[in-house]
Amino acid sequence: MSTSEPGAAGGDETRIAYRVCPFCEATCGLALEIRGRDIVAVRGDRDDVFSRGFVCPKAQGVKEMYHDPDRLERPVLRTAAGWREIPWGEAFSLIATRLGALRAAHGDDSVGVFAGNPLVVHDLAFLYLPVLAQALGTKNVFNPASIDTLPKDIQTGLMYGGWLPVLSVTVPDIDRTDYLLVIGANPAVSHGSLMTMPNAPGRLTAVRKRGGRLVVIDPRRTETAKLANEHHFLRPGSDAALLLAMVHTLFEEQLVSLGAAEGRVNDLEAVADAVAPFTPEAVAAFCRMPAPTIRRLAREFASAESAVCYGRLGTCVQAFGTLASWGVDLLNILTGNLDRPGGAMFPNPAAPYRALGAAPPFSFGRWTSRVSRRPETGGMLPASTMAEEILTPGEGQIRAMLLLMTNPLRSAANSATLERAFRELDFLVAVDCYINETTRLAHLILPTPPAAQHGHFEFGPAHLAVRNTLRWSGAPVPPPPDAPSAWQVLLRIAAPFMGLGAADDKTADDAVFAQVAAQAAAAEPGLALTAEEICAALATAVGPERIIDMLLRLGPHGDAFGRRPQGMTLDDVKAAPHGIDLGPLTPRLSEVLNTASGRIELAPPTMLNDLPRLRARMAEHTEEMLLIGRRVLRSSNSFMHNLPFTTRGEWPCTLQMSPQDADRLGVHDGGEARITSRTGSVVAPVQVTPDLMPGVVSLPHGYGHDAEGMQLGFATRRPGVNANALTDDEAYDEASGTAVLFGTPVTVEPA
Ligand code: SF4
Repeated sequence: MSTSEPGAAGGDETRIAYRVCPFCEATCGLALEIRGRDIVAVRGDRDDVFSRGFVCPKAQGVKEMYHDPDRLERPVLRTAAGWREIPWGEAFSLIATRLGALRAAHGDDSVGVFAGNPLVVHDLAFLYLPVLAQALGTKNVFNPASIDTLPKDIQTGLMYGGWLPVLSVTVPDIDRTDYLLVIGANPAVSHGSLMTMPNAPGRLTAVRKRGGRLVVIDPRRTETAKLANEHHFLRPGSDAALLLAMVHTLFEEQLVSLGAAEGRVNDLEAVADAVAPFTPEAVAAFCRMPAPTIRRLAREFASAESAVCYGRLGTCVQAFGTLASWGVDLLNILTGNLDRPGGAMFPNPAAPYRALGAAPPFSFGRWTSRVSRRPETGGMLPASTMAEEILTPGEGQIRAMLLLMTNPLRSAANSATLERAFRELDFLVAVDCYINETTRLAHLILPTPPAAQHGHFEFGPAHLAVRNTLRWSGAPVPPPPDAPSAWQVLLRIAAPFMGLGAADDKTADDAVFAQVAAQAAAAEPGLALTAEEICAALATAVGPERIIDMLLRLGPHGDAFGRRPQGMTLDDVKAAPHGIDLGPLTPRLSEVLNTASGRIELAPPTMLNDLPRLRARMAEHTEEMLLIGRRVLRSSNSFMHNLPFTTRGEWPCTLQMSPQDADRLGVHDGGEARITSRTGSVVAPVQVTPDLMPGVVSLPHGYGHDAEGMQLGFATRRPGVNANALTDDEAYDEASGTAVLFGTPVTVEPA
């Protein structure tokens, strides 16, 4: 709990408030020094049970965003004379009227919803996303997972059965492993993705310090690679082939050993047959990695005391993302490293999502997108289909969009087409506190308070954490009195379509919670709980906090509403300002497995059916220049670029290329190059570096703040280049529908 509860601010005394940083999955604990209503300093909380004082430069964003003069605090309506502030009540009435009319005329699917990342890591409002989607009854729901994590979600769902994406993703037990193989990920800078791990550089370095081995495979010699024992370049898009060749080696050299998965897998022989053509020699030229190196890495991985392979963004946002994700888990399972200390483990969150009930085995593709027939996953469609769903006439065409804390014109593939699509919409509403590249096209913008002004519980990240902890953040500074939280905004938009139009927030929330409590009670028959008992126990609470308290009480350490008197409630977590440490990860495969067979499905048809496409690509022998992205330390999402700390140090938005390519193409370090793809062309400053593999160039994403009509005073002074002007929504991983963001064919020439 923060030492300063909302309402305690005022006067000039200095006080310290504790809050977990909202800007990435690492969830570092912060100590904010506050004077009156000003945040005067941000430091790492040395007593935080998980991060122990570690922070990266982005933590300063909590202060700078709170004080940012460009941040909106009240709804604004676009008019012929420019943006005009309007009261909250008028904003919600307008949304109800316009969406109501469009749904009546064109059906439920005429309204689309795109929910951005901050809804998860910044505010628990994402718990109200299903409420909104259900109220609108639309199939056109998109989220950022469909930009980058979808292949991993689908693969783990098919193999382990997690009924929601990310419910059965394993994380590396990095603090105990003897051998960490990182492919297509740069945790030293990203601080982990689908892996909550404060102090990534320290934890990576510790692997080597205790005598372990860190091996990195990436087309760029990343910051993580520079901490490693060895690094190997890999051609973008060939990760799946490499990993399947390593699995092939396990079978060929009789190194398969299932460990905890023994007797709990299906189709081991089908995997052996499937990887038979992927010999190291067959993939070497495609991957640009020598066959003996592939064999050596497979042998070393299999013979290590404990080992784990971690693949992330680079393995997902490419043409074979689902196959590459499959290869990562096959390697872990077939070497006996699943569900063991030092291997790939399942976190055990104290407030588990599964306590919400309704846990059928994972399924996807229950419906497909209307135009290009790409599959839904967990009720979401791939973001790569959004533009065509807006632009293609016919029944089910999207005519209005709700954008929830997202800037897809800088985060999703093919910005030009997406911008054209958004301009065609009859009604565009953004829940966002900035007028950025995307929200400038909105008819109405509803801002919500920044992290400094709302409380939070580390819910989603706890499902992906390398250690089990519990942390609650109070609101360090009180929000403006009339400003609704993000969950209230979602509920108020949904209420008229739930028959609750005139209800106040508490009444509407009670109706929502009654349903949630009924599901949760039904999921725990052994506790003999009723929904009425849960609702009565939590009658005075409201919003996500009430849902979290219920999940915590039903979770492995909870009091089960008095049935386990020594167990916890949310009040216990609030009473621990630096969090509660629940210890290292423990084996729990049997609790997690939720497939129809009750076993790990090693060879789902989705993967087997995609192998001919990979083999066909391997036979193409193209020599195109390929564009990849990269994470930079001072940025994660585009909204950060309006904060001054992001521009300190070396300017990061450069086109990196190898000296060999620079010589061949006649461009030089410090000069400019024109990069052209099927979808667009941009000019970027060149940085020549031996860290790039020849044949590959790299641009960071999220930049290009040069669109007309934005109100991002700081970002527009140094706009950078928009990498997603070059990425292509028509190039995608066929199994998941995820657009290719790493491995876009481009030409490069001096500008
Ligand atoms: S690594 Fe940086 S951005 Fe991520 S949580 Fe920690 S301080 Fe925040």
